[in-house]
Amino acid sequence: MQRTDIKSLSFRELEQALKGLGMPAYSAGQIFVWLYKRHATDFGLMTNISKPSRLLLAQHFEIGSLKPLARQTGRDGTTKYQFMLSDGYSIESVLIPMGRWHTLCLSTQVGCALGCRFCLTGIKGFKRNLSVSEITCQLELVQAENPGTPVSHIVFMGMGEPFANYDNTLRAIDVLTSEYGYQYSHRRVTVSTAGLVPQIRRFIGESRANLAVSLNALYDDTRTAMMPINSRYPLGELIDVLKDYHKKRKGWITFEYVMIKGVNDGIGHAIQLAKLTRDFPFKVNLIPLNRHRGADYERPDDDRVQAFQEYLLGHNIVCMVRTTHGEEIDAACGQLGGGKVERNTSDLPQDSGGHPAQHRGNFQGGIDGH
Ligand code: SAH
Ligand code: SF4
Repeated sequence: MQRTDIKSLSFRELEQALKGLGMPAYSAGQIFVWLYKRHATDFGLMTNISKPSRLLLAQHFEIGSLKPLARQTGRDGTTKYQFMLSDGYSIESVLIPMGRWHTLCLSTQVGCALGCRFCLTGIKGFKRNLSVSEITCQLELVQAENPGTPVSHIVFMGMGEPFANYDNTLRAIDVLTSEYGYQYSHRRVTVSTAGLVPQIRRFIGESRANLAVSLNALYDDTRTAMMPINSRYPLGELIDVLKDYHKKRKGWITFEYVMIKGVNDGIGHAIQLAKLTRDFPFKVNLIPLNRHRGADYERPDDDRVQAFQEYLLGHNIVCMVRTTHGEEIDAACGQLGGGKVERNTSDLPQDSGGHPAQHRGNFQGGIDGH
């Protein structure tokens, strides 16, 4: 019999599944605690569940995990983790320390189908969605490697478009925020989307997590050239749904704005962006393009970035320039590649940047470059 990965169920789905097996619904809480607080890898360990029930669980379910492949730490402490999935694909997660906070950037897909022209994940194309288990196991393994530094914030900004894997993203948020699961406050969980309007509409009603939108341009022609999805959901529709988000949720939206030389770094874009404050409050993360092989866009000069930021700050818009975390280890936004692991991991190159990767736990020091 094909067994289901028990970590791919939301809390409610597990309750239902247990009822179907004749077990009490309250065991869902017990099992969640075993899985997500105690990280049990075997149903046999779940001693507060009766032995026959444990056997029944083992007949119907398996407990999924990821295989740690490699980790690599950059000068600023940003660490990229690479994991292998059971079918041989690899994915990446990035842990970013910022003062006393530690933000973990999770992947939701192997690759991405949206094909943004500046993004390595997009350029490499789409392979498949991640299961809920594959999404939350990234947190489990990164946390296990760093027991002294609790991950304080979760952002769905790694490989893939979370809203193209909408149901599993919401199930993963359920596990992350459940009182029996990881118990994160929704305020500490942020989902980033390239602007899938119907899913944003669903998200407004179905989740309390924060929303970030990769805006990247204020004119349809520029945005479509950078992000083909804009021809399907143009700026007008995107802004309309964000107005709704603000009306119903009252929360602030975060705009991510990848700056590309000569494309979207002009002050005209800043002026248009500032006008949006009439519709709802937002903050802006300016991300000067991280270059990688595969895209021939250029990063703007620092004075252009500064002028753009100053214009927004001058209009009372909270605006940060996102310093490039981990660019030298290809862990910065848009540099995550992943793909199929073709060779023995012992062949992986060792970190050679003069800042030796740390070797700890299950991860190897080097990481497969792109
Ligand atoms: N698919 C989602 C989430 C993952 S992408 C989304 O697009 O929002 C995470 C962020 O990296 C996005 O804001 C994207 O605009 C940014 N990004 C992609 N490629 C980049 C690059 N080459 N340089 C800087 N930021 C990049
Ligand atoms: Fe996909 Fe986001 Fe990259 Fe666009 S920026 S290709 S939506 S991961």
